[in-house]
Amino acid sequence: MPQAALPDVNTILITYRRERIVDLKSKRFTGALGSLLSMNAALPKKYQVEISTKKYNLALNKNILAVCSKCKDEPEYHSLIVDDYLLSSFGSLVSGTKYEKRWKCSKCNYVNILSKTELIKPEPKKPFFLGVVPDPPILTKGLMSEIDYPSLFEAWAWNFSVELEYQMGKYRVEYKPQEGEEPEEKLKGEEEEKIETLDGF
Ligand SMILES: [Zn+2]
Repeated sequence: MPQAALPDVNTILITYRRERIVDLKSKRFTGALGSLLSMNAALPKKYQVEISTKKYNLALNKNILAVCSKCKDEPEYHSLIVDDYLLSSFGSLVSGTKYEKRWKCSKCNYVNILSKTELIKPEPKKPFFLGVVPDPPILTKGLMSEIDYPSLFEAWAWNFSVELEYQMGKYRVEYKPQEGEEPEEKLKGEEEEKIETLDGF
């Protein structure tokens, strides 16, 4: 598939960006959602923001560390090998479950209980971009949902917008003009002309 031309994508993005802002301000959430999805669709596949709650949570939590309660080593949570251990009938009675999840520390071999493991979540340096956003919030029946929905949607929409703007910036930097199309050169030339005029003055 040919690469989408930057000037075309730019025009689409500017149009939808304006609409998105107007719709968000006047709380027309369906319109804002449409603009955001259209902006995303206008970008080449490589730069599109993925929409998946599952992948978003994975991306957000990928740096979580588990602390071994014996040696205090801090392996990455996603690297733990977790096994189900059959509990004694008493343990099962107390916990209400037959199995318990545990992981073995690779440094000291101590077997830690997963539900009692201390977790550390290092704060990522801001701003950070994940390339993925959660699914949009859904308006369900009920008073609470009606009250909460506008602020939840707005937060979601701005997060999506920031990710989109970042991807758009990346696309602009990495874009290679197609044959016969030199928008960057033209812009540079125009600027130089202006500077020359000013110098002459
Ligand atoms: Zn350990």
